[in-house]
Formats: sequence, C-alpha cells, structure tokens
Amino acid sequence: MFHVKHGGFDVVVIGGGHAGTEAAAAASRMGARTALVTFQKDDLGVMSCNPAIGGLGKGHLVREIDAMDGLMGRVADRAGIQFRLLNRRKGPAVQGPRAQADRRLYRAAMSEEVLALPGLAVVVGEVVDIVPAGQLSFRVILADGSEVAARTVVLTTGTFLRGTVHIGDRSFTAGRMGAQPSNRLADRLRGFDLPFGRLKTGTPPRLDGRTIAWDQLEMQPGDDEPVMFSFLSKAPVARQISCGITHTNPATHEIIEENLARSAMYGGRIAGVGPRYCPSIEDKVVRFADKNAHQVFLEPEGLDDHTVYPNGISTSLPEDVQVRYVRTMKGLERVDILQPGYAIEYDYVDPRSLDSRLSLMSCPGFFLAGQINGTTGYEEAAAQGLVAGLNAAAMAADRDQVAFSRAESYIGVMIDDLVTRGVTEPYRMFTSRAEFRLTLRADNADQRLTPMAIDLGVVSDRRRTAFEEKMEKLNAARVVLRETRFSPSELSALGVEVNKDGPRRSAYELLSFPDVTLPALTSLAASLDQIEPVIGEQLEREALYANYLDRQAQDIDALRREERTVIPRDFDYLGMSGLSKELQSKLVFHKPETLAQAGKIDGMTPAALALILAKLRQSR
Ligand code: FAD
Repeated sequence: MFHVKHGGFDVVVIGGGHAGTEAAAAASRMGARTALVTFQKDDLGVMSCNPAIGGLGKGHLVREIDAMDGLMGRVADRAGIQFRLLNRRKGPAVQGPRAQADRRLYRAAMSEEVLALPGLAVVVGEVVDIVPAGQLSFRVILADGSEVAARTVVLTTGTFLRGTVHIGDRSFTAGRMGAQPSNRLADRLRGFDLPFGRLKTGTPPRLDGRTIAWDQLEMQPGDDEPVMFSFLSKAPVARQISCGITHTNPATHEIIEENLARSAMYGGRIAGVGPRYCPSIEDKVVRFADKNAHQVFLEPEGLDDHTVYPNGISTSLPEDVQVRYVRTMKGLERVDILQPGYAIEYDYVDPRSLDSRLSLMSCPGFFLAGQINGTTGYEEAAAQGLVAGLNAAAMAADRDQVAFSRAESYIGVMIDDLVTRGVTEPYRMFTSRAEFRLTLRADNADQRLTPMAIDLGVVSDRRRTAFEEKMEKLNAARVVLRETRFSPSELSALGVEVNKDGPRRSAYELLSFPDVTLPALTSLAASLDQIEPVIGEQLEREALYANYLDRQAQDIDALRREERTVIPRDFDYLGMSGLSKELQSKLVFHKPETLAQAGKIDGMTPAALALILAKLRQSR
C-alpha cells in the first residue's frame, strides 16, 4: 500500500531541469494545479554543461518562450554576465542573441521564479513509477512510497534515464556528474513498451581560473549595447565580464591522437550516438585532421567563482591525458583541472511516438519533454517544456490543443521535426531548419506569439500592457512610413539611384533598399521624426524582408508540388556547392528515391531540398 501524500493535481511535472521548470510554469500560467517533482530542490535551473543560454537558432527559441511569458529569457537576463548578438553583421533573420550566465545567479533566479508560481507545489523526491489509473488519471510513485495523483503527467528526466558517465576507461552510473541516475524509473518505463534508444553527449574539463595566465590571452568583451532576451528587460543586471580566447595546437592534437584508444568514445565503450554539431575534441582532431588549431573560449562560470568552462574541448579521454593536452595551450601551461571532462550515455524515447502536443500516442495525457525526446540543449528542452506544460494543462481542463505551426515559430519547426522525422543524433536547433526563417526572426517573436498567449490567458498584465502599447506604436509608425513618399530627385540627394521618371516611393518601401536607413530618410522628411528609435529599428528589420516574403512563399509552394519528383539512384550529391558535407554523406547513405523521402532525412533543410531540386531540373 502506498501512503498517499499529494493529491488532486491537474498536472504533475517530473524533473526540475530546463524542460521541467518551463513545463511547470506554463501549466501554472494556464491555471492548472501543478506539482513539480524533482530529485533535489537545488535542481531548479541547473546548467549541466555550458554556462550560456541562446546562440544561433537557440536564441530564437528563447525569445519565443519569452513571447509566451515563459521563464528562460527573463532568468537569463538576470544572470547574464556577457551578452553578444551572434551574426551581428549578417541579416536580422539569422542573428542569435546569446548570453553567458553566472551559474549560481541563474539557479537562484530560476528557483525564485518557480517558487513564486501560483498553484505550484514543489515536491522533492525520486519518481520510481508512473501508473495510469484510468482515463486522464495517473499515479506518480516516489521512492519513499508516497505518491502524487494528477490528470496528466509531463516527464522531463533529461540525461538521467540509465545515465552512464565515461571518463577514459572508467565508467559509472550517474544522471550527470554528482547526481544519481534514474534507473528504477527507466526499468518501469519499459512496461510502457516505448521505442527507447541510446544517445550520448559530453562536457569539457572545468579549469581553475586562478591558474590561468589571463594576461597572455586575447580577451573578448560582450557587446557595447547588450541585446537582452526578454521583451520586458532593458539592460543587464549583473556585472559584465570578458572571456579569454586560446587555441589548440599541433602539440595538443598529437597528445589526443596518441591516446585516442583510451577515449571512451573512440575506444568503443559507448554505443550511443553523439551530437555532430557539438563534437568532442577527439572528434575534431580526427574529423578535421587538416586543421592545426581549434579556437577555445575560456568562459568564467560566475562572478564569484574561480571555475572556468573551456568551450570547445569536450572530451571522454582519461583524466591524466586531459591534464596533458590542456596544458599545451597558451595561457593554460600551469592550469589545474577542477573537474574532469566526461561523456554521458542515456536512454531517450523516439519522439515519433508523440503527437504534436508531446503526449504519447499510446497513452494520452502522458507527456514527454526535453532531452528525453532526443534533443540536446537547454533552449530546446525549455521550448518543449513550454509546449508540453501548456498542453498538459489544456488536456486536464478539457481545453483545445495549444498548437505551434512551422510557419509561425521555431518551436513549431522543432516539434514537427521531432514527431514526424524523429532523430538519428541529438537534435539541436538551427535557423536552416526553418523554411520561413525570414519571418521567424528573434526580433519579432512577440508579434508572432504574444497574441496567442494573450488569448490563452497565460501572460502577466505587465507583458500584456507593454505588448499592446508597442503594437499601437508599430501600427502608427507603419502608417506614417507608408504615407511618407519621396520623389526620385529627393532620393538621389541621399545617394540612392532610381529611375528618374519612376514613381514616388514610400519610406516603408525604401527601407528594403540595402543602404537606406530611417535616420537618412528622416533628414528629408520631418514627419518621420515622430517615430521612436526602437520602433524605427524594428520596422527597418521588417521592411528589409518585405520584398522577399512573396518569393519565399512561392519557393515553398514549388517545393511542395515537386515532392514526388524521382531522384535517380546515381544522383551525385558529392561536391554540390551549398550542400553541407554532413547532408551529402547522409544522402549518399540513404539514397532517397524521391524529394519527399529526402525531406524526411534528419537534418535536411528546405534550402538543401531546393538545391537538389534545382540540380534535378538542370539534368532534365
Ligand atoms: P535536465 O536539465 O537534465 O533535467 C532533468 C531533471 O530531472 C533534473 O532536475 C533531475 O534531477 C530530474 N530527474 C531525473 N530523474 C528523476 C526522477 N526519477 N525523479 C525526480 N526527478 C528526476 N547541451 C548542449 O546544448 N550542448 C552541450 O554541449 C551539452 N553537453 C552536455 C554535457 C553533459 C555531460 C550533460 C549532462 C548535458 C549536456 N547538454 C548539452 C545538455 C543539456 O544539459 C540538456 O540538453 C538540458 O539540460 C536538458 O534539459 P532537460 O530539462 O531535458 O533535462
């Protein structure tokens, strides 16, 4: 007999990592009575690997979570100690906000947010079983014999299911370094007859910053004008710092090559597949044998912490080899390692067993989110947590599904990729995965998603008011930009050459010209002066892409029409410019018979399909 301790919940979330906290917060915002069960209270907001949030594609996800009033963006802004907008020189569609975070501040800010959620109970304990108890009714059993009853369950156990850590030839079971694995639950889940697989990931050694010769290193500061994640944040709160940059060199590579057989990954001790996009240093040395050096960022893990995260050298080599190769690098000659790098192998569930709410098709009401679905990364996990939390609450309350489409969000792209294509390696987000990436920009995530969040009733009054005020200003400024028109002669004064007999053009249209800026147009037309700079910058980004959008829609339609196009068996993918080496090798391996089949290959992008289609047309 189990001792019933906690009952009457609508939603129970298992796991307090990035997926779990976001799922619990989303369910709570939906008005669900929610329980969050996790191993330790300190779990909330723990960053298992790098102390950073965002980046290319990932930054888009964080903005979208924020647009739905989720936690990750606000928390990262509070904990950020270095903000950089990646791809700043490229177009706004592919720019990605990133922040390095103080690990402790991040955890503290996440705990504060979670513990303040209305209707949420945090239960500390190990979940060892999940028992369906009729339609939309689950009993979640803890190791101490207590249980939590709820209408729906969201399971977000990350790398903990049958987690095994590998350091050289040493292996032991763990959910991550210093944490017990979740083996009893993994065994019980076998009873659900789920399609399990094995994946792996790795992390670098942590260095003692007091033993690094910082004065010998190139230092990289953050941006002068930090770009925040949350649409509600104005500026960083924490003190800002710089990172160091060093490089591997031939001596580093020699030590790694000599010891490859002692690496857990290369010594054949790990069966799981690892993230191709986040290769270990062993992988880099083998796969890019022609490169003599790889860049390594030395990122302090916090303002009051000597620990330094060397970004770019994750490894499963034995500890003695790690010490030797790390000390070959400039500035690290005398460095001490505080915690060795390691690889971790864990169970995941093939996400094709889920519907687009992330509920198991074989057991409605049982949701999975995060790394358990074969993804990697905090942001991917948090975004799935949001989707699962909203939908678990909606299902528990007999409300409609909360759906995210590919056309309106990166969240929709990821969910669709996962549930229709599955994964062959840990899935991470890239801008190239989105066919509508010109419209799915990080800067307009609020315009795309906040209206839906307002309709659902999941945003705070503060966000709702701020959003509505911003939309009013944007709409008014759009009217001014469309009504303010310039003659060809006025434009030539600006250095913009257009047909002299051509029509007068609106300021909005002109902002799509590469060299035309709003301040330049304002110098000719005082009426534009009323537009606030931040609103003007937003409309500059929007106008830049306006002309491309029709073209983008046509390309996608064409691709859909051509899906049945047959690809000859001897089609030559190798050396196709614009097609990544990774996709070339996957296409050669899978030999898809049609474009539709090629589209289902994991990692395939709309742009790559368009290239194949163009080559097929040439050879017709
Ligand atoms: P987690 O953040 O792992 O959270 C899982 C939570 O579930 C934990 O709080 C745990 O205590 C709890 N839990 C587990 N089992 C139970 C149970 N039975 N009962 C109660 N609570 C339970 N990502 C990258 O993007 N790049 C990388 O290079 C990278 N490297 C990584 C290296 C390592 C060694 C590890 C461990 C992870 C790495 N990650 C990396 C992945 C990143 O940490 C995860 O993607 C992210 O944390 C996943 O979030 P999650 O919420 O799914 O799981």
